[in-house]
Amino acid sequence: MNIARKLSPVLALLALILAGGISASAEDTLTFRHDEVEVTKTGRVIANADSGVILETPDSMMWPILADDLIAAKQDAGEFALLEKKALTEKLLAELPPGFEVHETAHYLICYNTSRAYAYWCGSLYERLYRGFVNYWKQRGVSLVEPTQPLVAVIFDNKQNYAAYGKPELGDAAGSIIGYYSMHTNRVAMYDLTGVDAVRSAGSSQRDIARINNILARPEATWLVATIVHEATHQLAYNCGLQIRLADNPVWVSEGLAIYFETPDLSSSRGWRGIGEVNRIRLPQAKRLVQRSGGQIVADLLVNDDQFRKAETALDAYALSWALNYFLLKRYPDAYVNYLKNLSQRRPLHDPPREERIAEFQKFIASDLTAFESEFRKFIAGLR
Ligand SMILES: [Zn+2]
Repeated sequence: MNIARKLSPVLALLALILAGGISASAEDTLTFRHDEVEVTKTGRVIANADSGVILETPDSMMWPILADDLIAAKQDAGEFALLEKKALTEKLLAELPPGFEVHETAHYLICYNTSRAYAYWCGSLYERLYRGFVNYWKQRGVSLVEPTQPLVAVIFDNKQNYAAYGKPELGDAAGSIIGYYSMHTNRVAMYDLTGVDAVRSAGSSQRDIARINNILARPEATWLVATIVHEATHQLAYNCGLQIRLADNPVWVSEGLAIYFETPDLSSSRGWRGIGEVNRIRLPQAKRLVQRSGGQIVADLLVNDDQFRKAETALDAYALSWALNYFLLKRYPDAYVNYLKNLSQRRPLHDPPREERIAEFQKFIASDLTAFESEFRKFIAGLR
């Protein structure tokens, strides 16, 4: 979107400062309007364009600021640094409602006000996903990077408290979504899915955790657990260098990948054998769609992000994005990896025109889209 044709005076000043050769790690202090309130934040400007800037603050939050909302900017020589684990933990506890505690794992800070057993269960699930995710890409020639800060997950005791937390970002939708990853805060948020008071008073012994595992391994909980993992996969992709936050990320890639990883094997305490299995929930829908004649499924997925946001097309779009990712990772792994590496070079606020997405796909994956489309349809239609 082209918000400001005329460059705002503050933005012009900021551009001048940034071009002035002050160290890239210097600190920027910006005053801007956010949700109709004037706020001042210190961090570093990580992207700058005519339309606005993006400020990253030491807690890994990213603030997209439209040129017209920017009120003042200054830069000083202080060195920008992300908060260390201890300082981040303190900031989280100060920000969250009273009663929260933090469970620390190798890569995560799990903030919770529910049972300790549930926090431990989630921590172990996340660490298993982390290992599975990194290994999966390593085997395909992608060396991911360690996140620059511990990843944050916030777990609420119940749906009501979670919905209140999510409301500023999600509006009333927060009440109907069981968990989400926020590109703005870089956190995942969710609520305790066990809903069993008996577990609430439980400790963190292996027996308590096994009890939670039993509850969530039931077939009716499959979809709930898949959603937790789905959102955690988004967070990993954006923090391990596979995708770039707030850059142009085709939605079929982000969503298809998250679905590809979302099937955990809860029976195994160490492995994650579920990666890359056929997604039983999405397959029937994907099959129906590819067997329908007419239309260009692939070209439409590449350029049309809106279909994921509209209620009447979203389920179809998710099923097809899973199917296309599945097909590419099974049949064109090297080409798809190169395509993803190219996407990860993108910078926020520098979105290429939509049509370029087709040209890029043709360059890295298949020059003949018509032939590719029929191969894709045939492959998915034949999946059992
Ligand atoms: Zn998603």
